Amino acid sequence: MARLTGPFFSDDAVDTPFWWDAAKPAAPAATELPAQSEVVIVGAGFTGLNAALTLARAGKQVTVLDAEAPGWGASSRNGGMLGPGWATFDTAMAYGPDKARAIVEESFLALQHVKDVVAREAIACDLAVVGYFRGAMTPRLYDAMGRNLDRIRQVMPCDAYLVPRAEQLGEIGTELYHGGLAMPGYAGLHPARYVAGLAEAARRLGVQIIGGARVTAIASQAGGFGLSVGGRTITAKQLLVATNGYTGALLPFLQRRIIPIRSALIATGQLPAEVMDRLMPKRRMLAGSQRVVTYYRPSPDGTRILFGGRVLKVTGENVGHANATHLRKQMLQVFPELERTPITHYWHGQTGFTFDKLPHLGEQEGIFYACGYNGTGIARASWFGHKIAQRMLGSTDAPSAYADLPFSSRPLYYGKPWFLPLAVLFYEMRDRWDQR
Ligand SMILES: Cc1cc2nc3c(=O)[nH]c(=O)nc-3n(C[C@H](O)[C@H](O)[C@H](O)COP(=O)(O)OP(=O)(O)OC[C@H]3O[C@@H](n4cnc5c(N)ncnc54)[C@H](O)[C@@H]3O)c2cc1C
Repeated sequence: MARLTGPFFSDDAVDTPFWWDAAKPAAPAATELPAQSEVVIVGAGFTGLNAALTLARAGKQVTVLDAEAPGWGASSRNGGMLGPGWATFDTAMAYGPDKARAIVEESFLALQHVKDVVAREAIACDLAVVGYFRGAMTPRLYDAMGRNLDRIRQVMPCDAYLVPRAEQLGEIGTELYHGGLAMPGYAGLHPARYVAGLAEAARRLGVQIIGGARVTAIASQAGGFGLSVGGRTITAKQLLVATNGYTGALLPFLQRRIIPIRSALIATGQLPAEVMDRLMPKRRMLAGSQRVVTYYRPSPDGTRILFGGRVLKVTGENVGHANATHLRKQMLQVFPELERTPITHYWHGQTGFTFDKLPHLGEQEGIFYACGYNGTGIARASWFGHKIAQRMLGSTDAPSAYADLPFSSRPLYYGKPWFLPLAVLFYEMRDRWDQR
């Protein structure tokens, strides 16, 4: 953890997730790596831990390995905005209206799955169904939102609705947008508490979760796999790789298909209740309509604003300062009155995008995987963990509308997204063009 200094940072500003103040991922007391396990899962985030729960409930002996503390990845760093991932509709339409409907319907099952798991395992993670509002940057984009909603309604029922600019202040205290789209089913949660609760629930079922256990190689062998971890080997009959945006070179098949993209957030200091009531009257999850997305929300106790978006800088000096400055500038466009509000936290994490913008689950040379949530992964990673576990169990409940989607890479892509700066520039130019 490093202190952040600068004119708009509070005296105690840090570069760790706001969520970690309440639930910092911590490796449990050092655990011996077992020599073998019926199932090994690599990655202890939403995907890996949801899979572990389903497998353990079916009586499997499960070991989950994480290179860092369990939950350390995107799962304890995200915005905690829990929705079905509506954007999938547009992308899924490439496969026709029936497939698009099946995919979106499954997205809602995913959302429900999180609510069910949280209730079943009694996870205290501040889950609250508060709805979502997406502000249109121009009148034209507002009209486009309406047309898109009509298109969705031709294929399936949808409870989202347009909010005209005249009624916008009931959703959000800003003049920036020209109306927007409200989606009542969305929820907010405390992601670090959710992932810690998943780990606790899995341990109660006898799952061994071992932190500080980086898997450096996977070898196929008779009856399963041998995994190298810190000079030792653990063998498994079944293997699930659940490393998403942090996959790296572990599995070249995934490395060529997952595009790791960094996303970042800042948290403000506490704001007076009357300010929060004005800026976020319904305590909704919020976003702007830009292609280079900004997303924001109140803290679960409703006293701070957490604001997220793309990073300007990935490496080099003062990464935190540069990215926090950029995010704060975007936040001030929405809420100019926060000019004097200090920033107390900046942090970032790795998301896993895919070339077709859809998440994927499946099996490659006997190794199971679930990944590619394209920045919307609380519901989807949780669901995909559960679904891939069902498939590993050979369950008849296993089918998923996502399972037969082709998972493609692109020529010259080997895991380093060299094209990203150009793509961001292109999308930013299109955003500017839209807002001209
Ligand atoms: C800043 C940010 C904001 C986001 N906001 C939202 C949001 O508001 N709503 C939403 O729905 N989604 C959001 N997401 C996306 C969501 O957080 C992810 O899709 C989800 O957490 C992915 O979970 P996962 O378990 O697949 O991966 P992760 O949680 O990233 O876990 C992967 C784990 O694998 C481990 N690992 C990697 N390699 C190895 C190895 N070789 N050996 C052992 N372990 C290894 C890592 O240490 C890591 O803990 C956000 C993501 C980020 C980064």
